[in-house]
Amino acid sequence: MFDLIIIGSGPAGLSAAVYAKRAGLNMLIIEKNPVSGGQIIDTYEVDNYLGIPGVNGFDLAMKFREHADKLGAEFVDGIVTGIEKSSTDEKGKTIFKVNTENESYETRTVLIAAGAHHSKLGIPGEEEYIGKGVSYCATCDGAFYKGKVAAVNGGGDVAVEDAIFLARFCEKVYLIHRRDELRAAKILQDELFGLPNVEVIWDSVVQEIQGEGKVTNLRVKNIKENKVSDLNVDGIFVAIGIHPSTEIFADIVECDENGYVIAGEDCATNVPGIFAAGDCRKKRLRQIVTSVADGANAVTAAQDYLIV
Ligand code: NAP
Repeated sequence: MFDLIIIGSGPAGLSAAVYAKRAGLNMLIIEKNPVSGGQIIDTYEVDNYLGIPGVNGFDLAMKFREHADKLGAEFVDGIVTGIEKSSTDEKGKTIFKVNTENESYETRTVLIAAGAHHSKLGIPGEEEYIGKGVSYCATCDGAFYKGKVAAVNGGGDVAVEDAIFLARFCEKVYLIHRRDELRAAKILQDELFGLPNVEVIWDSVVQEIQGEGKVTNLRVKNIKENKVSDLNVDGIFVAIGIHPSTEIFADIVECDENGYVIAGEDCATNVPGIFAAGDCRKKRLRQIVTSVADGANAVTAAQDYLIV
């Protein structure tokens, strides 16, 4: 019987592990990916985490993991399939069962820190050409496009960071955005606009990804002029935001219309004993710093819950 099971080993889960071990809780982290860190392991550079400007995302993830390891946090690989109410304890509080594909673990509290995954465009050719020119991670796949022409779709921090990263070795990078202004941080925009081999295609959406065995062309529609044209590229990086990885929790905790778990600053959900932290929680700002803060707040709230 655990005091706390943490689902997910991104910044929120790892921060929670550190706080839980320091609080002396009997805890377990269940991680889907054997490499801890969540989305940041695919991030080339993190420039806004206080005290470590310009750190590589993978290196930062390894530091987070080392910190949790140093305190003796216990990790297990597993794909969680659901949380169930199993029984009640002597105080009348629920005991939960966290099920994975192969195991089942009993715990007094659960922290959902399952993060988020890349949204898809849902257009013809996208699924067909994944790994053959369609990518969701410039840091992972960018090197294959040395001297080639790549497109990035999106206008947020990730899209602009990806375009800047790709411009270092691609001959040409197109950034395709559906509006006439970017959502990304001003500092990233300034860097992007200074790059000679980046061209922004405004007010446009990708309607279809075409190719022969691998991507060769995008059908791009300018939505202001209602005009469709061809854009010859070797690949497209889709960076249109994230979607919370919460499908399997929607039957036990309350989620909003976009799938984010509804929980306040203390990370407590509508189910006493279940908490949610990081990118899967409904909140204004999804950053490493807010995920790390969530992990700390969630464990503090879980401790309060366990004591009463
Ligand atoms: P995001 O900020 O949600 O931006 C998504 C972008 O994709 C927006 O520009 C959006 O357009 C566009 N978009 C959404 N759906 C689309 C569709 N179906 N077709 C075409 N375009 C579409 O997502 P993100 O850039 O992945 O960032 C995710 C979170 O991580 C954000 O909170 C971000 O701030 C954070 N992050 C921070 C940093 C950093 O601080 N260094 C780095 C990376 C990520 P509209 O603008 O028109 O809505």
